[in-house]
Amino acid sequence: MVIAVDGPAASGKGTIARALARHYGLPHLDTGLLYRAVGIAVLRAGGDPSDAAFAAGRCAFDETLLTDPALKSEEAGSAASRVSPHPAVRAALLERQRAFAAQPGGAILDGRDIGTVIAPNATAKLFVTARPEIRAERRHRELSGMGLDTSFDAVLADIRARDERDSNRAASPLIQAEDAVLLDTSDMGVEAAIVAAIAAVGR
Ligand code: C5P
Repeated sequence: MVIAVDGPAASGKGTIARALARHYGLPHLDTGLLYRAVGIAVLRAGGDPSDAAFAAGRCAFDETLLTDPALKSEEAGSAASRVSPHPAVRAALLERQRAFAAQPGGAILDGRDIGTVIAPNATAKLFVTARPEIRAERRHRELSGMGLDTSFDAVLADIRARDERDSNRAASPLIQAEDAVLLDTSDMGVEAAIVAAIAAVGR
């Protein structure tokens, strides 16, 4: 069984994907981490994430980078959304994601284009979303919990900018697959969202 979980930043898709992975006993890949790793590798090498050739040259990053706490930062998220529109970057990360999805027994992947590009034949597809203000509130709480001092307005502006870049890029934009189940978590607690996600997978 392959489960595709897509949606915008801070929609709750990561929490839902991890819960589904535990529930169904499947391996899980947070594909945003791959783009974050490329974004951070570009910044650390002194490059500009908007430079397609430079970003493409940073896709063979060291595996240990995937466990670097710096990947969780807003800086990494923002750099990720600047390297992710480059077709050469998406192509360089494609096989790794497809191979993860194709492993015997199945897998769960979360991201932006799992149901549309990486695993179009997935057994189940979820598109998890929430209103931008709600997503900003969650992200702001998370960042404050980590001791980071950012304003709610700055987080909301970042979420809107990221939505805009992810939805309007030409290569694999953030879009709900036709056969995906829409799950709006705006007015749901975590437990209710997980119950709804399991019901949507339907097995
Ligand atoms: O999900 P996360 O916030 O970690 O993703 C960071 C950025 O990586 C997104 O804003 C998006 O630009 C990019 N991304 C993508 N395709 C994916 C996963 C993430 O373009 N499958």
